[in-house]
Amino acid sequence: MSAPLIDIGINLAHDSFDSDRAEVIQRAAAVGVTRMVITGSSLPSTRAAIELVRSDPQRFRCTAGVHPHHATDLDETALQELATLAAQPQVVAVGECGLDYFRNFSPRPAQITAFRHQLDLAVQLRKPVFLHQRDAHDEFVTILREYSLQLVGGVAHCFTAGSAEARAYLDLGLYIGITGWISDERRGLHLREVVRTIPAERLLIETDGPYLLPRDLNPKPHSRRNEPMYLPHVLQAVAAARGQSPQELASVTTRNALTLFGWPAPAAEV
Ligand SMILES: [Zn+2]
Repeated sequence: MSAPLIDIGINLAHDSFDSDRAEVIQRAAAVGVTRMVITGSSLPSTRAAIELVRSDPQRFRCTAGVHPHHATDLDETALQELATLAAQPQVVAVGECGLDYFRNFSPRPAQITAFRHQLDLAVQLRKPVFLHQRDAHDEFVTILREYSLQLVGGVAHCFTAGSAEARAYLDLGLYIGITGWISDERRGLHLREVVRTIPAERLLIETDGPYLLPRDLNPKPHSRRNEPMYLPHVLQAVAAARGQSPQELASVTTRNALTLFGWPAPAAEV
């Protein structure tokens, strides 16, 4: 029997879960995914995530942030509300925040400003950061280095880059979150090498549902929607790539998540 798992990146407030969220939570629990950190990626999704935590504080925590895609939304008023939301006790990290130069849905200067505001907020609140980066590694790391002495921790969520990028994040003291991307035979094969180079004490696992359904699930759900019940699949893939037992990886990644997010372990697990 493996340790219970924590999905540290699940967009559970997403409307694709509106019709069957309770079943999604039950299916996850049935395979040992007993806790989740719900991603807040905009003000509305952060508000919804906080409500979900209030509905089941044993099972959930959440983040409060504005994704780089929505960076232009983070005006002065929005920033004040984000600060209020991020200070709530249900919120264990600021983000998801960062830079995404792959899609550039928000202009780069707006992304940088929004990222810096959220790093400032994390420093003020003494909460870790939940980070998103795509095609923007150099600028992202340059900004993070300015904050590295002040930040209390963070995770590079949905890590998909190479060994040099992983090294840079580890040097910044960050955890690295691995998703089902590792199962993608077209663009994830390199990750199987990279995860071998990450110390177990810095690894986290996540689904990023409803996105990033692992491509090698068999059978695949008709909906193509990813959900937390597939986290053990990510665990298996990471464990296989590292040549490590899934049980061992389960207990260390769960411990890492509890440590990073300051989430007390239930007495039975200590
Ligand atoms: Zn992301």
